[in-house]
Amino acid sequence: MKYHFSHRRRCHITGGMLLLLCCVVLSSCTSTAQSSAASIANTDIATSYSTDLFAMDTVMTLTAYGTNAQTAVETSAEEIQRLEQIFSTNLEDSAIAQLNAHKTAQLPEDAITVLQTALQLYDDTEGAFNVALYPIVKAWGFTTENYRIPSSEELAALLRHTDVNSLIVNSEIAQLSDSAAEIDLGGIVKGYTSDQVMQIMAQQNIQSAVISLGGNVQTLGTKPDGSLWRVGIQDPDNPDECICLVEVADKAVITSGPYQRYFIGEDGVRYHHIINPQTGAPAESGLASVTIVSDSGILADGLSTSLFVMGPEQALQYWQEHRQNFDAILITTDRQIIITAGLSDCFQSDSDYYVFGEQS
Ligand code: AMP
Ligand code: MG
Repeated sequence: MKYHFSHRRRCHITGGMLLLLCCVVLSSCTSTAQSSAASIANTDIATSYSTDLFAMDTVMTLTAYGTNAQTAVETSAEEIQRLEQIFSTNLEDSAIAQLNAHKTAQLPEDAITVLQTALQLYDDTEGAFNVALYPIVKAWGFTTENYRIPSSEELAALLRHTDVNSLIVNSEIAQLSDSAAEIDLGGIVKGYTSDQVMQIMAQQNIQSAVISLGGNVQTLGTKPDGSLWRVGIQDPDNPDECICLVEVADKAVITSGPYQRYFIGEDGVRYHHIINPQTGAPAESGLASVTIVSDSGILADGLSTSLFVMGPEQALQYWQEHRQNFDAILITTDRQIIITAGLSDCFQSDSDYYVFGEQS
């Protein structure tokens, strides 16, 4: 394959901007539970309402602007709690936990939609995105934080039960034909959730909103003053800092990276939560993080995980074949920043970066 790169250096991130950005980003840097807090602020531009909550194992911040802001945010928070009850593998009664326990379950429409999207992504990404990796994710201890390094024999035995084709989904019922198979939608469900929140905001006539679900950002419209939202991307080597930013309206901006969940083994090696479906080990693909910018939160979430597994070369090829659906920011383990051409007019960084592909 032939790559077309142009190389740029820009120094556009000012201190003031960074302060604003880190407000969005910092919530994703906090892994501890945070109590719910709400505030109403009257500005000269619009009424705003904001809530922090802890759900889906992460800190979330929802902010809406306009007269219905409070109702929109509170209804969104209820929706997030509802979806958590469906999707959380840790909640015994959740629909997905029931599917894993009994290998067959009648599922609500939300679960059917997410499972079907996950199956489609498995096909589209040639298996990089695989929601049947749960036995492996558990073996590493990522579900309980009782971390351990499974032996290669153990991983080989578990890999035999990670065939996504054992998952059969029809309009109301899902089944697992392998009695040792289990499903984990952690790589896609926050994106589905942010899409649902955006729908609620729109139904409440909100024209301006921004949410961060553990650092997965989705925006509705522009800022109330008509300017674009500035979303900071964490430096994978120093997640308290932003390495770059994108300016967007009506987009999901979703990042996957090893720094988001990992442990250091007794061997001093960092083991993280994004699994290479071929080996059952954390993916070491040459990437330090992948950010997807898309109209669709569920697609952005699924693809951030998938492109991380693929590594830079395959990820850029995938973008070339699907460029109408998303753009991407790839940060390699040697700190190169590569953006796809659709972002060239809305991307800023103090560091050098490469632009991949031609602008359409
Ligand atoms: P994300 O933070 O969106 O990249 O999702 C990572 C989470 O997705 C992990 O914590 C696992 O629950 C799950 N996961 C890990 N590897 C994969 C994979 N290759 N395909 C799909 N889901 C995965
Ligand atoms: Mg994901």
